[in-house]
Amino acid sequence: MDSILDRPIQYLTGIGQKRAELLASEIGVATFGDMLMHIPFRYVDRSRIYKIAEIGDELSSQYIQVRARVQDVGIVGHGAKARLAAVVADDTGEMDMVWFRGTKYILKKLEAGREYIFFGRPTIFNGSPNMAHPEFEPPIAVEGQEPVGMQGIYSTTERLSSIGLGTKAIFNAMRTLWAAVKDHIPETLPACLLEQERLVGRAQALHDIHFPASAEALNAAMRRLKFEELFVIQLQLLGQRRVRTEKTRGYLMPKIGDYFNLFYREKLPFALTGAQQRVIKEIRGDMVSGHQMNRLMQGDVGSGKTIVALLCVLIAADNGFQSAIMAPTEILATQHYRSITELVETTGLRVELLTGSTRRKKREEIAQGLLTGEIDLLIGTHALIEDTVRFARLGFVVIDEQHRFGVMQRAKLRLKSTGLPPHVLVMTATPIPRTLAMTLYGDLDVSMIDELPPGRKPVRTSHARESHRLRLFGFLREQIDQGRQVYIVYPLIQESEKMDVANLEAGAEVIAREFPPPRYTSVVVHGKMPARLKDYGMELFKEGQAQILISTTVIEVGVNVPNATVMVIESAERFGLSQLHQLRGRVGRGGDQSYCILMTGDKLSTEARRRMEAMVSTTDGFRLSELDLQLRGAGDIDGTAQSGQGIEIKVSDLARDGALLEHARSVAERILADDPHLEDKRNVLLRAALERLNRQKQAEVDLSQIS
Ligand code: ADP
Ligand code: MG
Repeated sequence: MDSILDRPIQYLTGIGQKRAELLASEIGVATFGDMLMHIPFRYVDRSRIYKIAEIGDELSSQYIQVRARVQDVGIVGHGAKARLAAVVADDTGEMDMVWFRGTKYILKKLEAGREYIFFGRPTIFNGSPNMAHPEFEPPIAVEGQEPVGMQGIYSTTERLSSIGLGTKAIFNAMRTLWAAVKDHIPETLPACLLEQERLVGRAQALHDIHFPASAEALNAAMRRLKFEELFVIQLQLLGQRRVRTEKTRGYLMPKIGDYFNLFYREKLPFALTGAQQRVIKEIRGDMVSGHQMNRLMQGDVGSGKTIVALLCVLIAADNGFQSAIMAPTEILATQHYRSITELVETTGLRVELLTGSTRRKKREEIAQGLLTGEIDLLIGTHALIEDTVRFARLGFVVIDEQHRFGVMQRAKLRLKSTGLPPHVLVMTATPIPRTLAMTLYGDLDVSMIDELPPGRKPVRTSHARESHRLRLFGFLREQIDQGRQVYIVYPLIQESEKMDVANLEAGAEVIAREFPPPRYTSVVVHGKMPARLKDYGMELFKEGQAQILISTTVIEVGVNVPNATVMVIESAERFGLSQLHQLRGRVGRGGDQSYCILMTGDKLSTEARRRMEAMVSTTDGFRLSELDLQLRGAGDIDGTAQSGQGIEIKVSDLARDGALLEHARSVAERILADDPHLEDKRNVLLRAALERLNRQKQAEVDLSQIS
C-alpha cells in the first residue's frame, strides 16, 4: 500500500523527528493515518467567550476561554518552585494565569499590555479564579484558517506538551495534516450500507470530527465512525462464531435419564426460578444441536448458578459423559465439592475433588477413576488442567468465575479427552454490561440469570468512617448476640502486601480485644496462609463456632454461609466497584436482614466517593457494572485485558454507545445471513476491513509475545 496515510508522521510540516518519536511512544501515533484517527475526546464551543466574573465553581475543570489583557507578567519564586505568573483582566475582573514549564518560550510570546484569548481549565483558588497552563493567542483569527466554532480537545501528555504539542498545537497540526490528506481518504463501507444506514462518507466524517462546523455535523461524523468501528468488530466476532458452530461438532446429549430425573424430583431443595429454567433450556438446546457449546452464564452473586451447572452435569451423566467443574481457588473448589456431594448423595453420581493439596495416592486413584470412566464429575482448581489429568469421555466442562482464568487455560481444558471437544459453560458473577459482553464475548453465546431466588431481602449498605468505629463494634455485638455472623474484609493488594497484612493483623488484634473469648471467637484467614490453616478457619466459621471471620479477599468469590449477615469492608476505597459488589454478595443469603458496611478513610477522591455512593444506592449488580464502566472506562474492566480478543476500541464508548452497538450487531447479523463468507461483490470493502482488523490483531499478538 502506497498511501499518504502510511507516511511517517515526522514528515508532517512542523513535526520532525524528535516530536515524531514522542508521538509514537506517548500516544501511539506513527503515521499520517494514525494521526487522523487521533480524534478529540471532547469539544468546546470556541465562539463562546466567558467573562472572568462568570467563572465559578461550576465551570471549574471545564475548558473555557476568556478574552483578557495582560496586566503584569513575570517569573515568581525560585529554584524548583519558579513559575511564570500573569495577572490578566477583562472588564469584569482579574484572574491569574500560571505556567510551570516552558516558561522562557511563553515569556517571549506573552506581552504585558496586550490582549489575548486564553484557553484552558479554570480552578478556583482562595475564592478567585486561575488557570494553569492555558493556551493563548491574539484575538484576531490567523489568516487562512477556517473560523473556529467547535474546537476539538485532543488528549496529550506532559511530555508532548513540553515539546510544544499541547492540545491546541495538535489541533493546528491536524489542520496541516488535513490539507495534505483530504483528497486521499478511501471509503471503507459499501455504498449501499451508507445509504441504508444514512451514514456520511468517511472523508466527510473525518473532516467533521476534527473541524465540526456545527453540532449536527459532529454528531453525524461520530455516528458514522462509531458505527463502522462497532460494526466491523461485530462482523468479525459473528463470523468467528459462525465458523465455530459450522465446523466444531459437539457431543449429542439428548437423553434425560435417571440421574437428572431422580435429582430433580426428589433431591432439589427448592423450585427453580424462571431464569434458571430458561438458562437450562438454552444449554439443553446446545447439547442437542450437534455443535460444541461455548456459553457464558452471567448471573449476579447468589442468583443460583451452581444448581444450573449441576443439573447440566447430570444430563451429561445421563448420556454417559464425564464432567469437570473448575473453580479459581481451593476454598471454592472444596465448597463446591461439599455442597454438590451432599446434593447428589444417593443419586449414585461419583464425584471427586482434585486440588493442589490432594495427596499423591488419592491423585493416582483419581487419575485411574477418570480413565476408567468411574468418576462422573471431577471438581477442582487449576490442578485440573495439569497434563496428567486425562478423562475417558469428558463431555461437559464448567468454569466458575471466568475472570480468573486466562483464555489459554480454557483452551487446555478442551484437550483433556480424545474425541470431540467438550461443551463449555463459563460462569461469571461479575456482571458484565451487555454492551461489553457483546464485544468481549461476542463469540460466545450468553445466558443471563437475571432473577434472584425468592425471599431475599436486599442488603442494607452504609458508608462509615473511622470516627464511627465504636458504633460499628456496638452494632456487630448486637448482631452476634442475635446469633448472626460477621465478615470483616481487608484489602490485600500486591504492591503493598506487607503493609496490608500488617493492617489485617492489627485489625484482628483490635477485634480480639473488643470481642474477647470465650464469649466470642474470631478467626483470621488470608491467602498467604497454609491451606490447612485456611480450611480450618473457614470450617470454624461455616460451622458457626466462630462468629467473626477476618480475611482478605479470599472470600470474595462463592463462599456461602447463610447465617452471616454483616459484611464489613475495611479500606473500602481501595476496592473496585465490582469487587465491592462481589464481597457484599457474601451476605443476604439467608432469610435475615443483612448489612454491608463500607469503612473508609476521611479523605476520599471524587471517584472513590462515587463508588461508595453507587454501592449505597443500589444492590443491582448489572446497574453497578454499568456505573463501573462509566467511572472507569471500558479499558479497565476486569477481563478486558485478558479477553484475548485484542480488540481496541478507539472511537466508541461502550458505556454510552450500547444502543448503537446492538444496532451494528444486528446489521452485521443480517449481512452475514445473506453472505456468510462475504464473497458478494457488494461486500468487498467489508472483507478488506476484516482483513485489516485481523492484521492489526495479529500484530498485537506478536508484540505481546515478544514483551
Ligand atoms: P451463585 O450464582 O452466586 O453461584 P449459588 O449457586 O451459590 O449462587 O446459590 C446461592 C444460594 O441460593 C445457594 O444457597 C443455593 O442453594 C440457593 N438457591 C439457588 N437457587 C435457588 C432457588 N431457585 N430457590 C431458592 N434458593 C436457591
Ligand atoms: Mg457461585
